[in-house]
Amino acid sequence: MLVLVGIASLYFVKTDPNDTLEVKDSERMPVVRQAIDQELTEFGKLVHRTKADTSVAEMFPTIPENRYPAIFRTYPDFVSDGFDFPVGVPNARNYYKAQNFGDNKHLGEDWNGRGGGNTDLGDPVYSIGNGLVTFSKDVCCGWGKTVRIVHHLPNHPEHQYVESVYAHLHTMDITVGSLVKRGQRIGTIGNANGRYNAHLHLEMRNFINMSLGPGYGDDQFGYLIPTKFIQSNRPY
Ligand SMILES: [Zn+2]
Repeated sequence: MLVLVGIASLYFVKTDPNDTLEVKDSERMPVVRQAIDQELTEFGKLVHRTKADTSVAEMFPTIPENRYPAIFRTYPDFVSDGFDFPVGVPNARNYYKAQNFGDNKHLGEDWNGRGGGNTDLGDPVYSIGNGLVTFSKDVCCGWGKTVRIVHHLPNHPEHQYVESVYAHLHTMDITVGSLVKRGQRIGTIGNANGRYNAHLHLEMRNFINMSLGPGYGDDQFGYLIPTKFIQSNRPY
């Protein structure tokens, strides 16, 4: 990327003798954006070469954290502007929590349609906020099809980055390296390949990029209570 910017600087200086040695941000931006786009595409390909697998390495996102600042600087429209609920947007209308965070050592929240059973199978699931898709894969078994999104909150008093995790999906509509908007459809409610009654298992984390983990446990380090976080960080 630095090489590309360097070449661009030479180009602008040569072709416009009246220009100063400085390259304006507006001129540099398309070059940087092209490099970031290329990088994001490569991350997407990387994931699609791997197969569904439950080995430990498969439970982690593949976009390194040190790339997040450049990505969000290049795409400031995808920096967080607040959070909505992931079903019945924006306020979870016609959905309820079948299992809260902390119940039975649950590390997430289970969102169900009011109709119960499998009536919500195939209902849309939305990103709770603007962000970067870092994981989109069928990891089988207890998790099923799972999407992970990193959200950047430069002005938040506690967290620069938080992560949302959407599990047991029926379909996944986005790929790794995609930038998404709050309320954008990312998949549909599923049953983890027939393992449960359909519902969305939603997790939120302030310690981002941990292993997918057990879904249940005594150790709540790194986890946020999704409803509490969303309600304290609404977009309005
Ligand atoms: Zn759950």
